[in-house]
Amino acid sequence: MIAAVDIGGTKIAVGMVDDNGQVVSRTQSPTDAGAGYKNACARMEEMLRDTSRTAGEKITGIGIGSTGPIDPLTGEIGDVKFFPAWRGENPVRDLSSGFGVTVAIENDADAAALAEAGWGAGRDKKRLIYVTVGTGIGAGIILDGRLYRGVDGAHPEIGHCLIDASGPLCECGFHGCWESLAAGPAMSTWMENQRPQHYPHDGPLSAQRICELAAEGDPLAKEAVDREAHYLGLGLANLITLFTPDAIVLGGSVMKSAALFLDTIRKTIAGACRYVPFEKSELALASLGEDANLIGAARVWHHRFHPERGSRA
Ligand SMILES: [Zn+2]
Repeated sequence: MIAAVDIGGTKIAVGMVDDNGQVVSRTQSPTDAGAGYKNACARMEEMLRDTSRTAGEKITGIGIGSTGPIDPLTGEIGDVKFFPAWRGENPVRDLSSGFGVTVAIENDADAAALAEAGWGAGRDKKRLIYVTVGTGIGAGIILDGRLYRGVDGAHPEIGHCLIDASGPLCECGFHGCWESLAAGPAMSTWMENQRPQHYPHDGPLSAQRICELAAEGDPLAKEAVDREAHYLGLGLANLITLFTPDAIVLGGSVMKSAALFLDTIRKTIAGACRYVPFEKSELALASLGEDANLIGAARVWHHRFHPERGSRA
């Protein structure tokens, strides 16, 4: 039984996950970055003890998925937007000494990619890319059951590949990154800018709300959805041209409305991927639901310490 820790910008979730990828107990608390790392670490330890007690199982290892950047090889937290003061802290070292078990950490998109590859929609795919579209765009690449790593263990930032150099300013300081055009907030910003004075729907227009309006037939929302699907398609076409993967698994909050986007995504890919067998790259939807992050964190431990199981998955 592996304990899983999911460190996000707003909450830290903890749970126990069995060898089949089932979450058997869970608990969570706000990240509360301002209270400091020591406070968060003490809460993680307390939640781990609680969840282990609830499950009636001993913790035999701990897997962590965390919003990045983090160093998966040393366990050190990098310059993370949500908790900049935690830089240089090391939850792998701290939880390992607190519980006397092996601990591994990965970027949360890599953790979710491992989960889908091992226990989800990407099972048995030799070359798999997991893409999550929410407030940002993240991705993890799995080759033969193993996580692709860049130099020094670096995590590739596929959300910041260039789609349109004349596009909007991205959080990273560049213009026209995939994330700046196709993440949820990009949809909201476009809609806010286009919304006419007497638009019948007021209030904040989240990506989810825009998708609801589009499904009800609102013409402007439908235009926003088409635009979103086009930019999603361009980024996915790049991934297919670069990697010709067996499958791309799509997750994240925006992809809950995937049914609205898939036709345009497929057309965009067919138009852009002239020289690769794009029709052989399956587009699948993430299948692990709300527990995906915890399942991913547990998978991080299996991938690191049971590699033969990871590669069979
Ligand atoms: Zn960027």
